[in-house]
Amino acid sequence: MTTNPTSDVTPSAGSARTGLSVDALRRGVLDNLICLQARPPSIATPYDWYMALSYSVRDRMLARWAATVQNYVVRDLRVACYLSAEFLIGPQLGNNLVNLGIEDNARAVMQSLGQDLDTLLALEEEPGLGNGGLGRLAACYLDSLATLQIPSVGYGIRYEFGIFDQEIRDGCQVEVTDKWLQKGNPWEIVRPSVCYYAAFGGHTEKWTDEQGRFRVRWMPARMVKGVACDTPMLGFRVNTCNTLRLWKSEAIESFDLQDFNAGDYYQAVQEKVISETLSKVLYPNDEPEAGKRLRLAQQYFFVSCSLQDMLRILDLKGVHVSRFADMFAVQLNDTHPSIAVAELMRLLVDVRLLPWDEAWDITCRTLAYTNHTLLPEALETWGLRLFGRLLPRPLEIIYEINHRFLDDLRRKYPGDEARVARMSLIDESGEKKIRMAYLSTIGSHAVNGVAALHSTLLRQTVLHDFAELWPERFDNVTNGVTPRRFLLLSNPGLARLLDTTVGDGWVTDLTQLRRLEAYADHAAFHEQWRAVKHANKQVLAEQIRHVTNIDVDPDALFDIQVKRIHEYKRQHLNALYIITLYQRLRRNVEHGAVPRCFVFGGKAAPGYAMAKLMIRLITGIAEVVNNDPAMHGRLKVVFFPDFNVKNAQFIYPAADLSEQISTAGKEASGTGNMKFMMNGAITIGTLDGANVEIREEAGDENFFLFGLTAAQVERVRREGYRPAAHVESNAELREVLDLIAGGQFSRGDHHVFRPLVDNLLHADPFLVLADYADYVACQERVSAAWLDPARWTRMSILNTARSGKFSSDRAIAEYCERIWKISPVKIALE
Ligand SMILES: *Cc1c(COP(=O)(O)O)cnc(C)c1O
Repeated sequence: MTTNPTSDVTPSAGSARTGLSVDALRRGVLDNLICLQARPPSIATPYDWYMALSYSVRDRMLARWAATVQNYVVRDLRVACYLSAEFLIGPQLGNNLVNLGIEDNARAVMQSLGQDLDTLLALEEEPGLGNGGLGRLAACYLDSLATLQIPSVGYGIRYEFGIFDQEIRDGCQVEVTDKWLQKGNPWEIVRPSVCYYAAFGGHTEKWTDEQGRFRVRWMPARMVKGVACDTPMLGFRVNTCNTLRLWKSEAIESFDLQDFNAGDYYQAVQEKVISETLSKVLYPNDEPEAGKRLRLAQQYFFVSCSLQDMLRILDLKGVHVSRFADMFAVQLNDTHPSIAVAELMRLLVDVRLLPWDEAWDITCRTLAYTNHTLLPEALETWGLRLFGRLLPRPLEIIYEINHRFLDDLRRKYPGDEARVARMSLIDESGEKKIRMAYLSTIGSHAVNGVAALHSTLLRQTVLHDFAELWPERFDNVTNGVTPRRFLLLSNPGLARLLDTTVGDGWVTDLTQLRRLEAYADHAAFHEQWRAVKHANKQVLAEQIRHVTNIDVDPDALFDIQVKRIHEYKRQHLNALYIITLYQRLRRNVEHGAVPRCFVFGGKAAPGYAMAKLMIRLITGIAEVVNNDPAMHGRLKVVFFPDFNVKNAQFIYPAADLSEQISTAGKEASGTGNMKFMMNGAITIGTLDGANVEIREEAGDENFFLFGLTAAQVERVRREGYRPAAHVESNAELREVLDLIAGGQFSRGDHHVFRPLVDNLLHADPFLVLADYADYVACQERVSAAWLDPARWTRMSILNTARSGKFSSDRAIAEYCERIWKISPVKIALE
């Protein structure tokens, strides 16, 4: 896949800035080492070389970027704007080399300069601008948007400190500040001239203008300046190079201070500190209350800057504001940018002076909303008082939207005041709150969930009344992941095998992997397939040894669960099984024992005590099991610290078994499940999120299914769940819980895991105990399948072969066709 059709070995071919040949690239690297990194080769460190190479790759992207931007500005076309508070884009150098098609040339160049490309790739800092799945989805979508040549921009926040780095000390998670920008970021282009101001606080004034129009003026207490920081997003082997535009908050210079703060200099300096703080840090999700105000400010800040940017582009193109919806399709990635509904109205009505009805029509035609969760605790609401103090004018607009919406409802459902109260934007039970999911739904022309099951549940539960009112608005777009990063780049061994077996068209049309089905029973192909997996497991084993000092055997079954640590994802269910297996192995009662290596990875929100306790349980089990000589060659447990995109790239390809064991109805989609599948892992999972569709595609016989369905989970809850009943009827489970409570995995301390065990015994909100027995039985079927290598390999091949649906290219094509009405635009390079 890495052969480059445009490579050119003639010396002097191509300029040092743009040429893709070995010679041109070499001159580029040496120039940039001196001119940008300011280091002579004699004393350059590997990091200096990484920077010089990255600048040289960026140079080659910029011609394509300029052509792309130029095209979007001069042509009358609609641009998809993906608004997301998170973009987990991962390291950029490897991906850009692959997309440009110059990986081999870059390797040769660096070798001629005495540097190893893989060593340099490993030096890149992870831009951790997201928590997990939602942010990584946004990044996969940017890759597909560029590859499919869709005019588009990603808009978000340029956090100075991204998601914390996780260290494990004494078995516990310790959070360390992520200083990803410390050594400079070669991919970012700051544009001080592209900047806007977001208003905060103060009050509003009503007045009538000379033409007799009712007007509102927002007199803010302070303004925060947002500066555009752009990262080019190149498509795979196309000229389209789109933009990820992240807003950085900056202090307003003293000149501006005079404008906004009449006279009070010290107050002004204080405001300066606040404005500098705004884009400092990414909030970990699943956090209780803390730092709420700043988070709302961050959301409004990036949404306001992004919408003002769209208006500026409209002006630049000389297009009248009444055509806003023809020029922009704005997708809201969850409710984090949902304030866009009020802010677009404010900009159109207060600033551009459009009549309310016309502005509302534009807003609804422009915006579309993707819901990512049904968990009540994760549905965003903002207290009215906090909201009103921070954003007085947007609050008035929300009141007006609600007023008009409720009037419409009363006309449609006369006398049904219960329904009107249920659907109001303001939740009046207890402290008054704004329901952001409702605001997004009312202000959008399309609302989608992220997997078939989730979209169905969304219509039946959280947005039931709205789905009844506007059935045509609701749709499903099942998530996807990019096969460039998660197959081609991260699993080069498999990519080569796929190329030689089915041709290289799969990279941009993943459904072509179906052709692998013809090889599912081919003995020689099985050999090759297993050799690739084995090599990937050796790579992971090497990393595990390096990071944790634990020795794992690449011949063992690699059973992997990597994702954020959360009770609904049920890492503790996995842990209960490991202890069960441990007990059975100690007693030699496990038939046909399969050597297993369990690998966990994932961060817990710093304020989520139960999730942190789950990490302690896993590391506690690892300590006992790995140090028990009787388990040697039979059982290993690893907690791989600081799971992120960078190390995900060698974890997914090494998996035999993919753990997707959330309580049915709780995981909206999952995307890790798709990455595992593409890389030939077999899923053990519940009928939750996209697992349902993964099983449909793979075939029942190639998926290990267990557990209650979403409907059964609901029924159990309705009928009164008694977790202790499962313990009373299951001696093995009883023993496992007793071991944990008794301090077996906490060096004898029987207080440590008490809260976790008590929670399982007396509350068990995610039905861990209810699914335990079926999970254990299912794991026995996994072991049986593993003991038949031909059967296992066949299942593995068929999982990869049938993973085509889960490409983000398919997902983006659906958004383009059904929601945005945007088609590809080819970019020519002169
Ligand atoms: C894919 C991915 C996720 C999402 O994993 P799920 O299993 O879907 O929760 C989270 N973090 C990283 C770094 C990922 O690459």
